[in-house]
Amino acid sequence: MRLESLTERAASNLSGRRVYGRCLCGAVQLEIDFPAFWAWHDHSVSSRLAHGAAYATYIGCWRKHARVAKGQESIARFEDAKTESTRSFCSRCGTPLFYERKRSPHMVNIPRALFTGRTGREPRYHVAIEELQDWTYRGERLAPLKGYPGVVWERPKSRRRPRDADGLEFLDLGGPSPVLSRR
Ligand SMILES: [Zn+2]
Repeated sequence: MRLESLTERAASNLSGRRVYGRCLCGAVQLEIDFPAFWAWHDHSVSSRLAHGAAYATYIGCWRKHARVAKGQESIARFEDAKTESTRSFCSRCGTPLFYERKRSPHMVNIPRALFTGRTGREPRYHVAIEELQDWTYRGERLAPLKGYPGVVWERPKSRRRPRDADGLEFLDLGGPSPVLSRR
């Protein structure tokens, strides 16, 4: 019985909790009621461009469970007529904040990355996966890049093209590139 009541209390504490997110400059602070409704990766071209990233990862919330805690006046909006959606971002630092779609009027999507803590949902879903870019990092094996502390790289798959690696080093040194000179 004791264990059960503790579990219940823990669950109610979590469900009544608010979690906070913020933009890069800190002008805007958001809050949602824990947990989020769902979380997903969006590979569509509009999200790719809006984020300037390979894809965007969102948490979806009921609109009534998401609020602007601070900085409403710093939020700018872009109405995208083509996709019938609205994207909000911080007018000071450009961080994407809300992605609202006309076809889901009761939901609001917020970039997962704005939250440092847990949001209660793992991003297990993918939208527009057919648009996954071939330059997206997909967990390939990485190795330290010699001479560049903190930089790791993916070695070329084929042993028949070792010159690609030499070319990169030549380019970085400002010298002639065997890759370019071959063309
Ligand atoms: Zn900002």
